[in-house]
Amino acid sequence: MNISYRIPEEKEVVEKALDVLEDRKEVRSLYEFHGLVLMRLKNVSRSYRLSPRRLLKLAAISKEIKIKVKKRHSNKKSKLCPLCGSELIYLRRRNLLGELIMKGRKCSVCNYSVERENLVPGRYIFMFDHDF
Ligand SMILES: [Zn+2]
Repeated sequence: MNISYRIPEEKEVVEKALDVLEDRKEVRSLYEFHGLVLMRLKNVSRSYRLSPRRLLKLAAISKEIKIKVKKRHSNKKSKLCPLCGSELIYLRRRNLLGELIMKGRKCSVCNYSVERENLVPGRYIFMFDHDF
């Protein structure tokens, strides 16, 4: 039995993701975006595999793809960026009394930021970054 599969290169995944976003102005869920990108990859090679997790990461670190994150409340706090898995850095600022206060956290690699600790991504909206 032949169950070989291939992992598409980063460049190829981003290329297909951009093709999808060129056709559709925006895609309003990771599930749908993943399906559309995978379909295009399968046209190149039927043995290509791609997980939604990897697509999300590659989209997050790609400058051409913009991801809007709708957040929801959660009891879990994420230590690492939920998009690309990099470290989150604390944002602090001084209030009028000169005290340092937390202003949330932001990813050290992609554009993800979160204002409050108890917020996590609920839905992703993918679009072409026209500012790029
Ligand atoms: Zn990130």
